[in-house]
Amino acid sequence: MKVDVFSLKRQYEAIKVEVKEAVEKVMQSGAFILGQDVGLFEQEFARYCGVKYGIGVNSGTDALFLGCLACGVGKGDEVITMPYTYIATALGISMTGARPVFVDIDERTYNIDTSKIEKAITEKTRAILPVHLYGHPADMDPIIEIAGKHNLKVIEDCAQAHGALYKNKKVGGIGDTSCFSFYPTKNLGAFGDGGMVLTNSEEIKARLLLLRDYGRKGRYEHIEKGYNSRLDTLQAAILRVKLEYLDKWDENRRKNARLYTKLFKESNIDLVLPYEADYAKHVYHLYPVRVKNRKEVMEKLAEKGIRTLIHYPIPIHLQEVYKDLGYRKGDFPVSERCCEEILSLPMYPELSEEEIRYVVEEMSKVT
Ligand SMILES: *Cc1c(COP(=O)(O)O)cnc(C)c1O
Repeated sequence: MKVDVFSLKRQYEAIKVEVKEAVEKVMQSGAFILGQDVGLFEQEFARYCGVKYGIGVNSGTDALFLGCLACGVGKGDEVITMPYTYIATALGISMTGARPVFVDIDERTYNIDTSKIEKAITEKTRAILPVHLYGHPADMDPIIEIAGKHNLKVIEDCAQAHGALYKNKKVGGIGDTSCFSFYPTKNLGAFGDGGMVLTNSEEIKARLLLLRDYGRKGRYEHIEKGYNSRLDTLQAAILRVKLEYLDKWDENRRKNARLYTKLFKESNIDLVLPYEADYAKHVYHLYPVRVKNRKEVMEKLAEKGIRTLIHYPIPIHLQEVYKDLGYRKGDFPVSERCCEEILSLPMYPELSEEEIRYVVEEMSKVT
């Protein structure tokens, strides 16, 4: 049997007819840039998250970059986030000229350890940027409280958490702005790059509309050195079709995760399983486990046709590109340890029970 870590094929088979219709409509209209589907998808996705405004952009990275800029983050500022995330979280901050400042993670949820945030705040801190990593929401209440006390903005990185709930509220509607990616393998993925920033603030929305479209006001006037970062109309049309299925897909991910967890618990395999906090509805963008002999496990599974991946092997503070920040090995021990042990098992909504059983069975032979 072959089991891929994720696959988009089965999903496409299920929605092919609707997607082709939606794409055909855009092609016929000829309105490829900021066409009708962009505005409609912005409204629909913002409503889905319980937020007033959605601004479609090029990618999740640009959503972070422009979201930070629109919150007033710039050169000389510091933004607090965690080193245990995809590099784009930090790049979005750096692109504004600001400096990412790291705080270690909580070992169970793999999200920012809120008890360590205040120690990282300085005169230059402008914002806190939690990541809802793997689809598990960060503990937002303490973050909002700390931000309020120190007059900081809160920018959510929701790239892995479309539909996740924090205390029964959708992530993306809790901070000042939130940033989504529609990279194809995300819980809600386009057929190419795409992203969105959400906000309840009229002012932040207005700034984002300028920033993504050459700083343009009307047709010919430019009042800000903006960028070209718009959600493509074809992608928006496809995303509108897919949004209708997001809840069902997230539920399937949860069902798959429950089965993995049940089987692993029954099997006495020595590994750390994903955790779901009381306040959280996890949407399992990934199903990461921790094993001591990761290299061996990956190789053995690969021999059996099971592909796994590592999210992420190197914490950002030890990445070459961020040497200039001056961090050292040992600065964030929890992140560093998790980077050495974490392993993503196959996870996507259409994964079958038989495939999950096969993965667990093969895991039991090597751990
Ligand atoms: C995917 C991802 C991003 C970047 O999104 P792109 O659309 O690929 O630019 C940012 N942050 C996290 C946590 C991600 O997983």
